[in-house]
Amino acid sequence: MAWTNQRNKQLVERARKVIPGGMYGHQSAAILPDVFPQFFSRAEGARLWDADGNEYIDYMCAYGPNLLGYRHPAVEAAAAAQQRLGDSMTGPSEIMVDLAEKFVSLVTHADWVIFCKNGTDATTMAMTTARAHTRKRKILVATKAYHGSAPWCNPNLTGILPEERAHLVPYQYNNPASLQDAFRANAGDVAGLFASAFRHDVFEDQDLPTREYAETARALCDDSGALLIVDDVRAGFRLARDCSWSKVGVQPDLSAWGKAIANGYALSALAGSEKARAAVQTIFVTGSYWFQAIPMATAIATLHEIEHSDYLEHTEKTGSMLRDGLARQAASYGFGLRQTGPVQLPMILFEDDPDLRLGYCWVSEALTRGVYFHPWHNNFICGALTENDVQMTLNVTDQAFAALKKRRPTLGPVEQLQARFARMRA
Ligand code: PMP
Repeated sequence: MAWTNQRNKQLVERARKVIPGGMYGHQSAAILPDVFPQFFSRAEGARLWDADGNEYIDYMCAYGPNLLGYRHPAVEAAAAAQQRLGDSMTGPSEIMVDLAEKFVSLVTHADWVIFCKNGTDATTMAMTTARAHTRKRKILVATKAYHGSAPWCNPNLTGILPEERAHLVPYQYNNPASLQDAFRANAGDVAGLFASAFRHDVFEDQDLPTREYAETARALCDDSGALLIVDDVRAGFRLARDCSWSKVGVQPDLSAWGKAIANGYALSALAGSEKARAAVQTIFVTGSYWFQAIPMATAIATLHEIEHSDYLEHTEKTGSMLRDGLARQAASYGFGLRQTGPVQLPMILFEDDPDLRLGYCWVSEALTRGVYFHPWHNNFICGALTENDVQMTLNVTDQAFAALKKRRPTLGPVEQLQARFARMRA
């Protein structure tokens, strides 16, 4: 079937009238390339179908929740079984205890866990817990790091008071000296230090945490009494069957989780060590849907797969195949490709492409041939992606590089990015 986007266009037109801006938040397709669909109809394994019925090999994985494959059989069976029993009830199902025990047994630093709905719930609770534990105010956050959409961490300042962010202190990720400066300048008042699993800021090359940076963060928190918080919402269980910082040998006091932990069902979590237990018991946190049993049942099934399947090794293998293949193709067409970060969460940017016109053209050429890559956010590899899928992807990207080479002289600035770039410069 030839690629078409007529239905998507009609839906976008209708959405403009009844949904603010046509769409809000990170899943708005408005600043993505013109051909990118806004609406989807279904998903299975590593495949996604848009509202027009076009099929894609999907490298965004719902922005992270798809870890094992969309509609993974064991996860869906767990959802169906729990559906017959109940979901939102007057209190949690007993499986909440099973899930908490399983989570704590997998995550080395965790002695307790609170389940919630979104990553922002977990990161915001981490901040409150750090302040309750220390009775101090300052929260250290790496420049450009994303920790959610609450006023304290929202990257867009419209409608947000400076007072709501008054006690945030910026530092540079992977820069121990900058951490030391931030602690020195706020001596006696640091409640917590946030660190992403690795540097995965949009529009930027990614960077894994160095051991020196992670150990410095740990030591500065220990010396001052502040809590070390790893934000594993995006990368959790994609790099390790444990907190991502276990890879650099550093255990945090708190870790925030979301996205993948229930393979797409609505569940996030704040996990913590014994040290923070007394404080976390004194804060009030809740939500109408935080105790739903279906997401907890799917999380148990997901954690079972995490523990017992080879999904992690498999995504490392397919991720490496993709990275190697793309690097070879880019070189053969005379393009420099910057592929950074872990192979399972690849950021793909072009050299000599400050306004992303090459990237936008390349992902568009791939999209209309059936492969969905993001032009400036990290991509994700799920456990259902096969080596054959990667080969099919590379057949498409080969054509996309060829088309890009032809179109390169005619490409102009990407119109839909201009406002975003202006905001980033401001
Ligand atoms: N932290 C990180 C690292 C994230 O990637 C995200 C989501 N992109 C969040 C926090 C916020 O999660 P949510 O959108 O579920 O609130």
